[in-house]
Amino acid sequence: MIRLYFIAIGCIFYFSSIIFSQQIYNINDTLRGSITEERAWWDVQKYKLSITPDFYSRTIKGSNEINFSVLKNGTKMQIDLQQPMRIDSIVYEGNNLKFERFKTVYYVYFQNNLKPSSELSIVIYFSGKPKEAEKAPWDGGWIWSYDKLNRPWMSVACQGLGASVWYPCKDHQSDEPDLGALISITTDDSLIGISNGRLISTETKANKNTFRWEVKNPINSYNIVPYIGYYKNWNEKFAGESGLLDCQYWVLDYEIENAKKQFKQCQSLLKSFEYWFGSYPFYEDGYKIVQAPFLGMEHQSAIAYGNKFENGYLGRDLSSTGIGLKWDFILVHESGHEWLGNSITSKDISDMWIHESFTNYSETLYTTSLYGIEKGNKYVQGTRKLILNDKPIISNYDVNTEGSGDMYYKGANMLHIIRQLIRDDEKFRAILKLMNEQFYHQNVTSSQIEQFWILQTGLDLQPIFNQYLRTIQIPVLEVKKIKGSTFVKWSDCVLDFNLELKLKNGKLIQPKTEWTSVRKGLFKLRIDPNFYVHMKQVEN
Ligand SMILES: [Zn+2]
Repeated sequence: MIRLYFIAIGCIFYFSSIIFSQQIYNINDTLRGSITEERAWWDVQKYKLSITPDFYSRTIKGSNEINFSVLKNGTKMQIDLQQPMRIDSIVYEGNNLKFERFKTVYYVYFQNNLKPSSELSIVIYFSGKPKEAEKAPWDGGWIWSYDKLNRPWMSVACQGLGASVWYPCKDHQSDEPDLGALISITTDDSLIGISNGRLISTETKANKNTFRWEVKNPINSYNIVPYIGYYKNWNEKFAGESGLLDCQYWVLDYEIENAKKQFKQCQSLLKSFEYWFGSYPFYEDGYKIVQAPFLGMEHQSAIAYGNKFENGYLGRDLSSTGIGLKWDFILVHESGHEWLGNSITSKDISDMWIHESFTNYSETLYTTSLYGIEKGNKYVQGTRKLILNDKPIISNYDVNTEGSGDMYYKGANMLHIIRQLIRDDEKFRAILKLMNEQFYHQNVTSSQIEQFWILQTGLDLQPIFNQYLRTIQIPVLEVKKIKGSTFVKWSDCVLDFNLELKLKNGKLIQPKTEWTSVRKGLFKLRIDPNFYVHMKQVEN
């Protein structure tokens, strides 16, 4: 996803993360954010979702067949579906199941204990008027809009809020349908329905068209998306690391010429990302950009694009260096998510830095591919003014809560520091590629990713992760001079903070949290600007 920011000027708050853990959560946060007993016994294998939206009444009706494996005995199942959407009936082996509403979810009752290791399915019929998004993609819900020719144009954005805002599912990031999803969209007239993966059939019956799409790979529930409008498309191939990748582009019929010019960037960004991150993770499902009635979203194998066919972020450069205008922010950022976010997904959204910090850093890596290391460095440094240090990047677990939006620019600057510490871009790239291989199509925790980087680099990165992900303090290098010798120490930092620092002249120093002396004559030392830290000269 992408965020809007206010710029904080010179505001640094020196509070610990403790303050922020006192937020009050309610039962709905727990139902949505934790692995409840009613969720723990079953594992989603596949969703077969069919929907028929009605543009004029702003309602949808449909069904979702959920194929699942039974992990352990269970008779009570939690199915998430937020009001005002409702479940009409649930069918299991030809019989209707009992179900009841509890807060934002439903409890579904099976008559007998289901046998562990069995593969079963239920079909849930649902209908209603889903919540509408007012400011998609930042809030969430359905978008019922009109294109420039005043024709219907519909879609959904629901990251954070959750897919259960419009269809019944197990709405937790840790459980993706292992075997993918089938999505059928039925539309009126000549409206085209587009979804994730590949189009496997179309059917016209009684003036209605049904488009069936298939995703073969695991997919986050919020990534499943319909786009309905007067679309046209073209295809091309990308000669990538795992063969010829099918690239499909779907835009409103009157935008096709603009899009053909702008989307030329996709070839170079796929090339760059395969270089840094390894093979595109969804060759079977193809790569697809779909014009959307909102700015953008990383919908897997069907990326939402609404950046007006311009470079930058709606024509702006988020780094204020001019570099951000050299490429299309939404194409780059949302495509980066195919590796970080879609292939590697955090189990809990509190660990969403895994998606956003690496994807944000993919913008720097793409800039580096196109224009060299110096421009890449300038870009990531330029984005620092968007860092708020308002609350920690990692929030509380099991309550469906994201941490600070600093997961974008501060997280990227933390990764940039780690790259400096490795001091070998080939090694840095090899680790990025290994991470994408080792956690390919997996749901992970922050701790797994941190341990992976500590092991692969052989560096003591834990204090750095703790500092930048779990506090809002920016470490300060204090410098003082006593009798001709220069002393340094870290302050505003975690207890064992030990970041090795490169100076502008290329020299390395190893400050600690107590005063230590460094070579004479370094009192006017200048820090390499690739390190996101502060410096303060202090008097004796
Ligand atoms: Zn994002």
